[in-house]
Amino acid sequence: MGKITIAIDGYSSTGKSTIAKQLAKALDYVYIDTGAMYRAVTLYTLRNKLIGEKINDIRAIVKSLSKINLEFTYNPTLGYSEMYLNGENVEKEIRTLEVSKYVSRIAEIKEVREMLVGMQQEMGKVKGIVMDGRDIGTVVFPNAELKVFMTASPAKRAYRRYKELLEKGEEITYEQILKNVQLRDHIDSSREFSPLRKADGAITFDNSDMGLQEQFERLFSYAQRVIETKKGTP
Ligand code: C5P
Repeated sequence: MGKITIAIDGYSSTGKSTIAKQLAKALDYVYIDTGAMYRAVTLYTLRNKLIGEKINDIRAIVKSLSKINLEFTYNPTLGYSEMYLNGENVEKEIRTLEVSKYVSRIAEIKEVREMLVGMQQEMGKVKGIVMDGRDIGTVVFPNAELKVFMTASPAKRAYRRYKELLEKGEEITYEQILKNVQLRDHIDSSREFSPLRKADGAITFDNSDMGLQEQFERLFSYAQRVIETKKGTP
């Protein structure tokens, strides 16, 4: 009773997933990282040479979708779910710069979006969910009780991503990341199907100069307020 749907959208590397995970944990809700789903499809197409520097076979990609099985499996040690592609845990493989380079092109394909949005709506039938992505408040759950649009300056976002990948041991320069962040912003906001934009009724949340604790506290209190107003409704 009183459980809500929380939709968090925004630009790349705004820290959506970190905050969404924390919120889900604090509220005892399910967390779904929809970017992981687009990344897993991208990994599949890269492995099967359907996309690459010189290849971009949309028809073959669309045909291959029926062979892709995606599942989130909860990892109790980590406290959140991990992405499985055809039975294989691909959490690490989907976070590389190689996948980031192609993911926005895969996410532009209408059939890919239809398949993934369908799965996301199915997962959201249970209330008590925090979902993050680019089109959650606009397309997946336009009726979500709480919608957040996260943003931060490209330089701040690129720097955060840079630090994250360095810690994981990837050999990368800040400039490469900044270029990737800007390119994905551009493709994500200008694509034909479900472009990234602020949903009606969403709160804009600029975290350029905000630490994690402050972000969490603010969003948690927004969520509590919304949940409070829902109390007593089935
Ligand atoms: O959130 P993350 O950066 O992992 O997402 C990777 C990419 O997947 C985004 O740049 C975007 O192109 C795509 N995406 C999307 N719609 C979503 C989630 C992610 O188009 N709901």
